[in-house]
Amino acid sequence: MSAKIRTPGGDKAQQLASALLQRAPNLRCSVCGGVDFAMLEDPDAGFRSLLERKRGAFGYRLEATTLVCTNCGHVMQFADVVFKLESKPDDFGPPVTNE
Ligand SMILES: [Zn+2]
Repeated sequence: MSAKIRTPGGDKAQQLASALLQRAPNLRCSVCGGVDFAMLEDPDAGFRSLLERKRGAFGYRLEATTLVCTNCGHVMQFADVVFKLESKPDDFGPPVTNE
């Protein structure tokens, strides 16, 4: 069964949901395995979730897409900069591995 993301409507909301599903085609709730999600973003009305990083008066914000599993209520977030292909893994620094 393929995942579905319910949106508040609007072109930007549908584009955001489509971009996420293209990058995460096997999207499943990590708690219950559900595949039906509600997107809390409404970019057409200007409502977005933000991941904020601050140090004193300085900081920056990344837009994030928040999904809620419609079966169990589990909340998941995805950084837009990654799934919209605006960044590469190396942009975040060198990896730490367990090898
Ligand atoms: Zn769930």
